[in-house]
Amino acid sequence: MKTWVYIDHFKGEVVQASWEAVGVAKTFGSVTALVFGSGVESVAQAAFEFGADEVLLADDAALADFRAETHASTLTALATASSPDLILLPTTFRAREMAAMSAIDLNSGVLVDVTALEVDGDKICATRPIYEGKLSEKTVCAAKPQFVTLRGRAFPRPEREAGRSGTLTKVAAKTEALTSVEGYSAGESGVSINDAGAIVAGGRGVSNNPSLGLDEKATAEKGFTLIGELAALLGGAVGASRAAVDAGYIPYSHQVGQTGKVVSPDLYIAAGISGSIQHVVGIRTAKVVIAINKDAEAPIFGVARFGVVGDLFTFLPLLTAAFKKQLGK
Ligand SMILES: Cc1cc2nc3c(=O)[nH]c(=O)nc-3n(C[C@H](O)[C@H](O)[C@H](O)COP(=O)(O)OP(=O)(O)OC[C@H]3O[C@@H](n4cnc5c(N)ncnc54)[C@H](O)[C@@H]3O)c2cc1C
Repeated sequence: MKTWVYIDHFKGEVVQASWEAVGVAKTFGSVTALVFGSGVESVAQAAFEFGADEVLLADDAALADFRAETHASTLTALATASSPDLILLPTTFRAREMAAMSAIDLNSGVLVDVTALEVDGDKICATRPIYEGKLSEKTVCAAKPQFVTLRGRAFPRPEREAGRSGTLTKVAAKTEALTSVEGYSAGESGVSINDAGAIVAGGRGVSNNPSLGLDEKATAEKGFTLIGELAALLGGAVGASRAAVDAGYIPYSHQVGQTGKVVSPDLYIAAGISGSIQHVVGIRTAKVVIAINKDAEAPIFGVARFGVVGDLFTFLPLLTAAFKKQLGK
């Protein structure tokens, strides 16, 4: 089985699920990693250290910014020349767009957000959640190369072996594109919710505490401050329901769910979130869910391992204090 892994990164900052994909590929034999960008030799070196045997490095100023056209056509050209059986990518917006474009070029298909992968002879069978996570479907794709994007944190990350090396092959970039990137505006820093091992998320309930004597927005700000403190203590990220995002309490990049991000942390704490199906679909593969809600009948308790019926403004500071004590911080 000839397996390639696309290492997705932003300006050299690698999406950690790329390494998880290298780990999956290793179980099928030797691994070729694809590193595209400008000045990204350090990413190629990291790929070796995470287990790649070969790296195809397209290092070109034209690839400095991710553009689906340049990246997909570079991938298409390489795959046309070398005919891999399987191309793994992390499930990110960039990688999905690029895989879809390249698959069209190669008359193949893409299986997205895969949570398990088996190889039986020539057949690659992917498992992925469908119907908002209520069912898991097993799918095979008749065409080669088969493109598969893997859900972040659904697979273990291999240990990094410092100084490990392999075969570095420099390859040509395809640089033709109709689009160009004019610039970037800074988002927020901190742990990305895709990579986070712990997520503390807030819903519309963060704006509800009349005893504070504050208006809705100020109450929500206070609620998300409590959530942020706990997330920071756990080295995790802040998540949110769509209601909280739509109300303007927090930016969309934090939204978890059907129209937000699908996350797989070890711990997900949902505070003031009712647990609508559209939210729950985003946390089905979270390992432990803790729900804090005033309403004992809230559906979130149906997916939570631990539930606290109470006010988040009272309980979150207690939980933060307990974690501080436990973690010796
Ligand atoms: C096509 C479509 C896509 C959608 N995509 C998403 C998505 O990606 N993500 C998403 O989240 N939603 C999504 N939604 C919206 C979804 O249906 C819900 O409306 C939304 O998830 C509700 O958010 P919430 O739980 O924060 O708010 P609510 O449903 O209003 O729940 C607030 C909860 O907070 C509790 N509460 C109130 N005050 C407190 C307090 N002080 N302490 C503790 N608990 C308190 C209440 O008991 C209640 O359970 C989508 C909807 C549609 C139609």
